Amino acid sequence: MASDLQYRRVLLKVSGEALMGAREYGLAPEMVARIADEIQSVHVLGVELCLVIGGGNIFRGLSGTAVGMERAAGDYMGMLGTVINSLAVQNELERRGVTTRVQSAISMQAICEPYIRRRALRHLEKKRVVIFAAGTGNPFFTTDTAAALRASEMGCDALLKGTKVDGVYDADPHRVASARRFERLDYLEVLSRDLRVMDASAISLARENRIPVLVFSIFESGAFAKIVSGRGRYTIIGERG
Ligand code: UDP
Repeated sequence: MASDLQYRRVLLKVSGEALMGAREYGLAPEMVARIADEIQSVHVLGVELCLVIGGGNIFRGLSGTAVGMERAAGDYMGMLGTVINSLAVQNELERRGVTTRVQSAISMQAICEPYIRRRALRHLEKKRVVIFAAGTGNPFFTTDTAAALRASEMGCDALLKGTKVDGVYDADPHRVASARRFERLDYLEVLSRDLRVMDASAISLARENRIPVLVFSIFESGAFAKIVSGRGRYTIIGERG
């Protein structure tokens, strides 16, 4: 019930790779469905939900530069990838009866709304899930930074980063058996230890706006719903205190 909620308005960031499953590229429908199920289970609790979906499963600007492309051109391609992913997630959510709006930082009137802050806030008040597409709309940024930016603009209580693992570790737990998991981290520690859970500009923005970042496994069924209810397993990045 709404009164048991720890967080009333959150932004969930999911990387494009999470939608890829075992594929090397693009979208795995079963993964999109799984993530939509998780989102739906939080929506029914009455949480106001913002989503930012990455685009790494389709294109990354840096892969463009690796083959001689201008960075900005590659980045725009990456941003278009996030729009494709956003439409895929929108479609799965709407199939489950969840009302959504996609707002893109790069105007694409025929397929989604342009990003308008006050309009997005209104959607949230009406319990529509708002999916922010095309990142920040600027090259040289990432969707992590877009997530921190939109979470700040929307006045979110927390930024949740759904990953493959249940928190932040000091090494990749899939490769290093002795990797240590952190229960809690300070924003500055994430930056100074170069933990790479999110890029530095995203962490700085979250810190400036005092938004806690919770890192959890989006693949563990029910984990997202537990977190918004103040339970579950995650690493929280915040101010030391
Ligand atoms: N991108 C960008 N500006 C933004 C957000 C994204 O230029 O504000 C581009 C950038 O090229 C990036 C790509 O879109 O590599 C895909 O986004 P990201 O790498 O953040 O996706 P994820 O790793 O979360 O799947």
